[in-house]
Amino acid sequence: MIKRDVIVIGAGAAGLFCAAQSGQRGRTTEVLDHAKKVGRKILMSGGGRCNFTNMYASPENFLSENPHFCKSALSRYTQWDFIGLVNEYSIPHHEKTLGQLFCDNSASDIVDMLLTECRKADVTITTRCDITSVSKNADGYILQTSNGEYFCESLVIATGGLSMPKLGATPFAYKIAEQFGLNVLPTRAGLVPFTLQPNLKAPLAEISGISQKVRASCQNTSFVEDMLITHRGISGPAILQISSYWDGQEIELDLSVEEDLLEKLRLERANKPNVQLKNFIATCFARRFAETLISVLNLPNVPLKQLNDKQVNDIAEQLHHWRIQPAGTEGYRTAEVTLGGVDTNALSSKTMEARGIEGLYFIGEAVDVTGWLGGYNFQWAWSSGWVAGQNA
Ligand SMILES: Cc1cc2nc3c(=O)[nH]c(=O)nc-3n(C[C@H](O)[C@H](O)[C@H](O)COP(=O)(O)OP(=O)(O)OC[C@H]3O[C@@H](n4cnc5c(N)ncnc54)[C@H](O)[C@@H]3O)c2cc1C
Repeated sequence: MIKRDVIVIGAGAAGLFCAAQSGQRGRTTEVLDHAKKVGRKILMSGGGRCNFTNMYASPENFLSENPHFCKSALSRYTQWDFIGLVNEYSIPHHEKTLGQLFCDNSASDIVDMLLTECRKADVTITTRCDITSVSKNADGYILQTSNGEYFCESLVIATGGLSMPKLGATPFAYKIAEQFGLNVLPTRAGLVPFTLQPNLKAPLAEISGISQKVRASCQNTSFVEDMLITHRGISGPAILQISSYWDGQEIELDLSVEEDLLEKLRLERANKPNVQLKNFIATCFARRFAETLISVLNLPNVPLKQLNDKQVNDIAEQLHHWRIQPAGTEGYRTAEVTLGGVDTNALSSKTMEARGIEGLYFIGEAVDVTGWLGGYNFQWAWSSGWVAGQNA
């Protein structure tokens, strides 16, 4: 039997960072992962450049049944702490937009940093290790694995959520939580593209690749960013952001965030009455998008002088408040994150330890804390991993 003070299951962002912390406290630590490679999501993230944190990260950027839960970890280990570490390793990085920090070169800089931190702390990392059972006795936890039997005092579950099963995602964390009687909240895909009903999907598919700045709204929440039309539906940052708030209802798109189209259309009708509506709309959007809007919104493509005030109002209203009923989302296959998961009521926000179950910790995406797009999810992985690493 292999004995360790701490075993972390999951060699992703949260697990590797947590292991480095507990190892640096002098606790013998081993990380077990069933995958061949560690940190696969980190390597894939941010288009290969890893948006590793956000300069403006704060609890408001996270979704959870208990929005207060994340405050403690985020304040104990902040984005500035992580940026400090990235600077210590001289990893070149830049702000892309809205406080989002990306590596200049490659996401592998972040994985290499985490592995160096683990090496400095004598952490053992074992990949291709399947965990077949976990049980608890008075002293700690016994794990049966494809690498033999392990014993540890503290067990940290950092196996993430369900998004991207191709990258090794499994419901392991939820199963362990349930085994120990902890509540698991229903999960769903977040930061995920929407699929559309056939009547909208077909015409939009023909203009896939077009991107438009929009305000996407749902459940009293809005994001002003780009929307990208794809051959499957709609995506892009505005859509990914709002998808995390979507629960089956209509979403609303303001297609002209910067310009009041009612005023513009009234002026145009007065000054250029013979212009066709299609040509007017093409002054606001890419021409192919304008043509598609005329047909999918069923707008009257007539000279502007033929439009009465009500029609002008209706057209502007439709373009500023386009209500779409998504058919669904692309699901876990392409989702960047999983909403829901291990109920925060079952955990201590100060340590991430399960209430009433000494030595069992849950961190990272497995927990019901989900960040917006923009580096927030990694910040949660670092903050929750750090906190558990100080206590496990
Ligand atoms: C394509 C993509 C791009 C992203 N880009 C960004 C970004 O730029 N910025 C950002 O903040 N967030 C991004 N995210 C989200 C971010 O990657 C996750 O929120 C973060 O990786 C969660 O960290 P974690 O350690 O909790 O889980 P993970 O990183 O998912 O790690 C879990 C680990 O557990 C292992 N594991 C799973 N099940 C088992 C099991 N049964 N037994 C043993 N091991 C197991 C997995 O192999 C994996 O190594 C992106 C996600 C995706 C999918």
